[in-house]
Amino acid sequence: MSDIRLEIIEAARAMLESRLVNSTWGNISAKEPGKKECFWITPSGMDYRKLTPEDLVLVNFSGEVIRGRRKPSTETPLHALIYRERSEIGAIVHTHSLMATVIGVLGREIPPVIAELAAGVGGPVPLAPFALFGTSELGELALKAMGDRRAVLLQNHGVVTIGSELDEAVRLAAIVEDAAAIYYYASLAGKPILIPNKSCAELYRIFQEKYGQK
Ligand SMILES: [Zn+2]
Repeated sequence: MSDIRLEIIEAARAMLESRLVNSTWGNISAKEPGKKECFWITPSGMDYRKLTPEDLVLVNFSGEVIRGRRKPSTETPLHALIYRERSEIGAIVHTHSLMATVIGVLGREIPPVIAELAAGVGGPVPLAPFALFGTSELGELALKAMGDRRAVLLQNHGVVTIGSELDEAVRLAAIVEDAAAIYYYASLAGKPILIPNKSCAELYRIFQEKYGQK
């Protein structure tokens, strides 16, 4: 039997190993297949290496705990709000990955510098203004800034990526981090050339329709 909780734990450990997250920072959630309006989320402040399925928490779209003995991630309100408003998605990943956070600290968005970013996000990764972590204000600002994109930077904080499936949201978190590093280093050396808007839209469309084993 496939268990979405095991997929979440595996993703959390992979993100720890690839240094997309440090220590207990960041959080991951995914909708429970076949169940309406609820999702599994990582617990607050627990070591990803020690997580078992029983540590994950089932939460409804209002952010209330339905099942689980742990306290859910402090960013549960942000996850709940995004699921409420973006019904097409199945998973959310939040990291404090280094280079993406650097760009957020500079108060900039990440422009489409590489095709994977344009294809995965649909254009630049927008920047949401600063808000305290764990607040519904943070969720509202993130959702508003994200618009119809699949990623958003949180100023002085980190990144949120979304996907139809968990794999997609995790992959996008890695792509956003790579793009942030490439943009940063290219900016140090000169003026980065960006992928034109029209090509971003085309790449996004092609990726959604044709990429992978579809
Ligand atoms: Zn955070």
